Amino acid sequence: MNLYELTIHEASDEMRRGRITSGDLMESLKQRISEVEERVHAYVTILDRPEETKSPSSDRQEEQGPLSGIPVAVKDNMTTRGIRTTCSSKMLSNFIPHYDATVVDRLRQNGVVILGKTNMDEFAMGSSTETSYMGATRNPWNLERIPGGSSGGSAAAVAADECIAALGSDTGGSIRQPAAHCGVVGMKPTYGRVSRYGLVAFASSLDQIGPITKDVTDCALLLNAISGHDPRDSTSVKVPAPDFTSALTGEVRGLTIGVPAEYFVEGMQPEVEDAVRTALSLLEERGAVIKEVSLPHTGYAIATYYILATAEASSNLARYDGVKYGYRTENASDLMDMYMQTRAQGFGPEVKRRIMLGTYVLSAGYYDAYYRKAQQVRTLIKNDFDQAFQTCDVLITPTSPTTAFRIGEKINDPLQMYLSDIFTISVNLAGIPGISVPCGFDNSGLPIGLQIMGRHFNEKAILRSAYAYEQQTDWHRKRPVL
Ligand code: GLN
Repeated sequence: MNLYELTIHEASDEMRRGRITSGDLMESLKQRISEVEERVHAYVTILDRPEETKSPSSDRQEEQGPLSGIPVAVKDNMTTRGIRTTCSSKMLSNFIPHYDATVVDRLRQNGVVILGKTNMDEFAMGSSTETSYMGATRNPWNLERIPGGSSGGSAAAVAADECIAALGSDTGGSIRQPAAHCGVVGMKPTYGRVSRYGLVAFASSLDQIGPITKDVTDCALLLNAISGHDPRDSTSVKVPAPDFTSALTGEVRGLTIGVPAEYFVEGMQPEVEDAVRTALSLLEERGAVIKEVSLPHTGYAIATYYILATAEASSNLARYDGVKYGYRTENASDLMDMYMQTRAQGFGPEVKRRIMLGTYVLSAGYYDAYYRKAQQVRTLIKNDFDQAFQTCDVLITPTSPTTAFRIGEKINDPLQMYLSDIFTISVNLAGIPGISVPCGFDNSGLPIGLQIMGRHFNEKAILRSAYAYEQQTDWHRKRPVL
């Protein structure tokens, strides 16, 4: 076995036993990156001397912590001190932050080595990583296919063994959907669980950072490191973060799993439904109770999301004006012209579409019809989940209605692109946690994802179910041949 194939917990065991060093692991990953990155294009920036990114204060913990010396990749919308953070946009292509995001800081304190910054849809707007100014990332399982998005670079890097684990961000599915398409594990924690200080804002009432890993154990380990209250993020919640690895018991006896009828829709790829139903039977055999439930407002989720997310994006992206940081146009005649040209040249078409939609839904006369209405529907969607969680511990659905589509297939059809998030978006609207774990392959060998959702701050129930399922299968051990 090659060292780059190891999970966090395997690599950590090997290091503790003195059989390998963090340097060996790094060498192996660098070798792997030099072999496959040209084809996959998972990274925007690969650090030449990643060892230097370790926190000077991490040396002491280095002895014990399970993340010590582990090379991790970070999505390029989280700030890294002295390392450019582009959001895969021309607007920030030369932006070098002078501070670390809280999650990056926490990783460093745990002894993690930041290996590089991963590609994404521009400003995290997209489901395929094709809107990146840096060029598309390819799915390691089939280089003609998209890796999903917007954290497509992180998911592809994990799947292609170009890092041991990665961080992504999820506003409407951007961790879970690429994890599903790349055959890896991805979790969006509860809104407020993980600090977003230093995460470049897209839609602030929805954005959340989370792990993308090779298995559920690694997901729990990474979540342990990044969760917890942060006074620098007013939306981070003051609840104690448990040890998430304590949920990895392998037991699901007595757990009630809800299956929402609205998530098994016409037009869905039959292999996806089969794989999810098979997973449910397996959990039932292990002693879980399966129960059909209804989330009646599911049909409104996409419309609601594209009103709220664009409204928030139009406001958040107003800061890119060519004055304070980022791209500035060369030849402007006056200040107004400078603003207009900077924004016209610095943003790509999808970002402009979102800004225009968002400005429209917030404008006088339309605010009540769109924005306020969407807020009300958002509450109904959240209430659906509250209702379901009165009788269920977790809910299980497919992560995405199809497996990875072809590069170019949906990029000129925004509505089709938006529909690929139909199963992930409600989780963000409700603020609850959700995970995607590998649950099989379709007839062309592309991975399928199983989504497990839980109550607010009950990531443990999700991890418990996900781990018990993983123990019974070996989908997570399959790797693409590159
Ligand atoms: N695909 C969705 C969008 O384009 C979600 C993106 C995300 O979660 N960042 O908005």
